Amino acid sequence: MENSKDILLLENKEIVALCISEIGKKKNFCNECKLEFGSTRGLRQHEGKIHSKSEKILVCSECQKMFKNKYSLKVHLKQVHEKSVKLPCDKCGKILYSKYTFKNHQRKNHPPDAKIE
Ligand SMILES: [Zn+2]
Ligand SMILES: [Zn+2]
Ligand SMILES: [Zn+2]
Repeated sequence: MENSKDILLLENKEIVALCISEIGKKKNFCNECKLEFGSTRGLRQHEGKIHSKSEKILVCSECQKMFKNKYSLKVHLKQVHEKSVKLPCDKCGKILYSKYTFKNHQRKNHPPDAKIE
């Protein structure tokens, strides 16, 4: 009986030791993409470069204005582009939804020096 108790104690100690070494070996995983890093520093650098949450920039597709979050982009889209007039291109009939894209379209597709046939 006493022998088995000793063994049990020993086993417990081994388990504790194992747990401690597991903690010591704790890997640094990126929460976003599950990549593994050898050091916390490496992980931090990766997070800053790849998932820099504070500086995530959203660009308005209509006027290329930049926004820090989805909400302000939505507000901008509503306030600036929702009421925008439809501008049909007089050269090819394509409809553009803002003066910016209209100008861009003209510049790209119908440069002033292009031959009109
Ligand atoms: Zn990542
Ligand atoms: Zn815009
Ligand atoms: Zn056009």
